[in-house]
Amino acid sequence: MGARTSVSGSAVVVGGGVGGLVAARRLALQGRDVVLLERGARLGGRVARGTIAGVPADTGAESFAVRGGTVRALVEELGLGDALVEPRGSAWVALADRTVPLPAGGVLGIPGSPLADDVRQVVDTRGAVRAYADRLLPVLKVGRYERLGPLVRGRMGRRVLERLVAPVVESVYGVDAETVPVDAIAPQLNTAITRTGSLSAAVLHLRAAAPAGSAVQGIAGGVTRLVDALLADLDRLGVDVRTDAEVIGVHPVPRGPGFTVVTPREDVPADVVVIAADGAGALDLLGDAAPEVARMPRPAPAVTRSVLLAVDDPRLDAMPRGSGVLRAAGRSDVTATALTHVTAKWPWAAEALPAGRHLLRLSYRGEEEPDGLRVAADAEALLGLVPSSIEDRLDTVWVDTAPPLAPETRSAQRALSELGLPEGLAVTGSWRAGTGLASVVAGADAAARGLG
Ligand SMILES: Cc1cc2nc3c(=O)[nH]c(=O)nc-3n(C[C@H](O)[C@H](O)[C@H](O)COP(=O)(O)OP(=O)(O)OC[C@H]3O[C@@H](n4cnc5c(N)ncnc54)[C@H](O)[C@@H]3O)c2cc1C
Repeated sequence: MGARTSVSGSAVVVGGGVGGLVAARRLALQGRDVVLLERGARLGGRVARGTIAGVPADTGAESFAVRGGTVRALVEELGLGDALVEPRGSAWVALADRTVPLPAGGVLGIPGSPLADDVRQVVDTRGAVRAYADRLLPVLKVGRYERLGPLVRGRMGRRVLERLVAPVVESVYGVDAETVPVDAIAPQLNTAITRTGSLSAAVLHLRAAAPAGSAVQGIAGGVTRLVDALLADLDRLGVDVRTDAEVIGVHPVPRGPGFTVVTPREDVPADVVVIAADGAGALDLLGDAAPEVARMPRPAPAVTRSVLLAVDDPRLDAMPRGSGVLRAAGRSDVTATALTHVTAKWPWAAEALPAGRHLLRLSYRGEEEPDGLRVAADAEALLGLVPSSIEDRLDTVWVDTAPPLAPETRSAQRALSELGLPEGLAVTGSWRAGTGLASVVAGADAAARGLG
């Protein structure tokens, strides 16, 4: 995968998130002279490092899905294979009246074995029996279910939807479980239902096909080490990486092959261009190359705030909530959508801190800053104990300008695939490839390879 081939010519990559870095690396490995232009002062995009209580911590992505093996292969190629780690513990869910472990072995929270004890703990026996009715209902004859909410409610009942599926889908993907299209969030689920005859059997089928072990992995020292390693490799490959270089136009050369990539300071000529800017940035840059797509309605940006806390409390050594807690909609006293117990989930993070000190990460929808009392109350409610002292706090606000599962983003994705782009231009990044590093890395590599 890392061997050089020999295509000559120049390439410009727009955007220095993981998508852009991976695309630039691939183009350089193919033998092109590559310039990467990043708007900001920092590279890595939504993979970023902050400092809390004197130690480095991931403020954006903190793990990656193992599906497809793409990120793992990249991490190994970059010489970080020894640092790959599996998360410790599993997640809990905060229901209206109690906080319990999330059942093992589901897909998007949908249980494969509805009568299992861990499922009953969440949905009670009544909910479990209702969920089991899925096995007895006729095979779906009406065709494919379009939306996740009606599928889960129809087959397994309201409790499974509200207590299991909604907390997982809303905290991991940031979308409404009721309305999200099944094919967008779980592309193989409808086919598996048709093949196996029920939703729970489909879940078991998909789980059996998935690799053994944890569905996600991390990197000891933080996922930002992947960015460091990519940058070191780009340096080795002679890629010209420029920061504070916002691209304001990508213009196909009239009647000729190639492009002119415009920044406020200069025009950069390129034989091929990969636009790996985040959604709104990418759509703005398609004004010349794909005007119909650039003019389409834009999705509402999804804004999240991640609040890292350094807490001194040895009771947390016992990992009272495993790797963390997802909030179910019925839990109205809590504002945070999820809490990750970082030092429980990642032993390397615990080792970096003095005994008894812990890192917690709370996630909030929207930009509004929760005050200290709110954050402490949320931590207390989700952990089931009052943390004895909060030593430090680090907030980061993240804006996803085109959430991949938003209907407008999906329309733009479809239009782009149908209308195509001028020869030599590719568009990648999470808005196009899908949420998360596994999709972003695979999408960026494929986009760059597609340019030959
Ligand atoms: C809080 C949080 C937690 C997450 N956790 C996980 C996780 O645990 N696991 C996981 O797999 N994923 C996670 N994700 C998602 C993951 O971080 C993203 O899917 C991924 O990093 C997106 O990479 P990207 O390269 O597509 O976009 P970005 O990282 O957004 O990079 C785009 C880059 O393009 C630049 N840019 C934009 N416009 C221009 C322009 N005109 N000119 C030049 N540059 C431009 C931007 O400045 C930015 O640097 C998380 C995201 C967040 C916010």
